[in-house]
Amino acid sequence: MSAPPRKARERAAELRTQLGHHAHRYYVLDDPEIGDEVYDGLLDELRALEEAHPQLQSADSPTLRVGGEPVGRLEKIEHLEPMLSLGNVRSEEELRAWVERMRNHLAREGIAEPAFTYVVEPKIDGLAISLVYRDGVLERGATRGNGLIGEDVTHNLRTIGAIPLHFEDAPALVEVRGEVYMSLADFTALNERRAEAGESTFMNPRNSAAGTIRQLDPADAAKRPLSIWCYQVGVGEGLSFTAHSEALEWLREHGFRVNSGIRVLESAEEVIAQCLDWERRRGELDFEIDGVVVKVDDLALQRRLGAVGRDPRWAVAWKFPPTTAVTKLEKVMWNVGKFGDLRPYAVLEPVRVGGVTIKLATLHNEQDILRKDIRAGEEVIVVRAGDVIPQVVSPAPHVAEQKDRPQAPHPPERCPFCDTPTVKPAEGVFTTCPNRDCPARAWQLLKHFVSRGAMDIDGLGEKQVALLQERGLVCSAADFYRLSEAQLLEIERFGELSVRNLLAAIESSKERPFARVLFALGIEEVGEVTGRNLAQSFRDIDALLAATPEQIAETNGVGEKMAVSIRAQLDEERMQKLIADLREIGLRFHDEGPPPSQGPLAGNTLVLTGSMPEWSREEATERIMAAGGRVTGSVSKKTDYLVAGESPGTKLEKAERLGVAVLNEAGLRKLLEGS
Ligand SMILES: [Zn+2]
Repeated sequence: MSAPPRKARERAAELRTQLGHHAHRYYVLDDPEIGDEVYDGLLDELRALEEAHPQLQSADSPTLRVGGEPVGRLEKIEHLEPMLSLGNVRSEEELRAWVERMRNHLAREGIAEPAFTYVVEPKIDGLAISLVYRDGVLERGATRGNGLIGEDVTHNLRTIGAIPLHFEDAPALVEVRGEVYMSLADFTALNERRAEAGESTFMNPRNSAAGTIRQLDPADAAKRPLSIWCYQVGVGEGLSFTAHSEALEWLREHGFRVNSGIRVLESAEEVIAQCLDWERRRGELDFEIDGVVVKVDDLALQRRLGAVGRDPRWAVAWKFPPTTAVTKLEKVMWNVGKFGDLRPYAVLEPVRVGGVTIKLATLHNEQDILRKDIRAGEEVIVVRAGDVIPQVVSPAPHVAEQKDRPQAPHPPERCPFCDTPTVKPAEGVFTTCPNRDCPARAWQLLKHFVSRGAMDIDGLGEKQVALLQERGLVCSAADFYRLSEAQLLEIERFGELSVRNLLAAIESSKERPFARVLFALGIEEVGEVTGRNLAQSFRDIDALLAATPEQIAETNGVGEKMAVSIRAQLDEERMQKLIADLREIGLRFHDEGPPPSQGPLAGNTLVLTGSMPEWSREEATERIMAAGGRVTGSVSKKTDYLVAGESPGTKLEKAERLGVAVLNEAGLRKLLEGS
């Protein structure tokens, strides 16, 4: 094989540098400079070069991010330095006692009155791993294992965008430690996808991260989004820090992702306050933490303190209350979804988990129940992760061995709401109630119609919708617009003022744009995004109603199968009537204003932060999109405007630093008017 031409070599090196830079912007700084398509384009170019000239492949090539060669098994690896474990404290008293023990130990070493500074870090509930870099190139990564010997999972770690494959200005050898985790949003989405596909669901984000990291084929790992927080420099040739916080700063400067919530504090009381604060905010984070790690910052003091067995004296984990509990599963009940799908949930004997009492938990679907071997009347393990809906995980350990267990719960043979015999479709995961007039289905559709992303009618929650339905006042969504003051006043729970407000809210919902009306109709595949895309490409309901499945499939994000199903639902008599009724009532069935490409914000990228006086985030987004603008989640040099409401947070600081124009709601209104 001939050597690759110099041009190809140079271009490959250039592409790697660029891709490394952009991965850092995107995954570590959460501040991308380029769009996904541009990144993918660069990656494709590099992959083509490497395929044409295999000598150009390297251990730090970003093409490995999407998955290199599968491995036959996970090899054992000895860590350069043992990965320690931490002693636990569970209260303020125990934390003070830990500080006291350190003082006593140092006093015996002849150090009286040590001035402790502490580093307080969130304890991520993920998977501890070690990354070894030689000359700045990621050579190998391993799980913690037993602390001395772990497993080689380099092939999967390379797929994690937040892990640098190489970095500049590197020592000959350095080991970086961190916690690999899956965000709660990604975890929930992954489980939903798996449940819909009839696959097993993961118990918690930690299990899904651990399962992913131990895959043999990195292409599988690449499909599941993982990230990392780095928290320690292990062996480092030629590196000398005097404090742990310096090492963290070094990590940050060299492109590693370090949690911005880490604090350096002066006193045990401040440390306690910080631990309690993390505990309070635990449910607001997008990742799971099971405690807080407190370390002595001064590395010389750390060395003097040493370790007892494998627990260092200079660090401790403040543990939060557990997020799992054992309780009795009283019964399995079934809800009916918008499209008749029967979805099981668990009614539990009330139990405290992670600081709150829970009575209900999700069971995803019937296969999930069978796979987990869950029976009503037995004790089960429940888990609650952050704000995620609690889940039943398995029977309690002693239960599975028992004889004479109760029968496994099955979907009911008749719909619990309308008594129609249920059907198990040949395709699909869910047994369904086929009755189009099923009150439970209707309730879900009505709830969907008035919900936030759809018609967004203030004052109509699920209870009110159920009440109106029970009274026979609302059967179809069009009936909301036919409600009268007299009818509503007869319902004891509606006061005069709330009736007037409700009627005003219903009236003003007629102003919602076409895209939201499309979403509100409750067509199975039409979510918010698809609703917007359909509205943009057809611009009018008559055009959509006249479209063939092929024409519908030309819409961004709509596949052929989806298009056929959308077409079929549009043809249903009930849908035709609903559209005709809503049209007569005066809802918007065509896209108003100029095509987005000519709007006053065409070509502009905006970021929203904080709360605005009048518009919700969704409303502002819609208006910006209708004017041809784009809304993204984070501020970068590519951002044209930051729209800042009240309590704007860090995005405002960043915009100011980057010189991005900052507007308030009034400023946005002016822009939208084109002045
Ligand atoms: Zn039913």
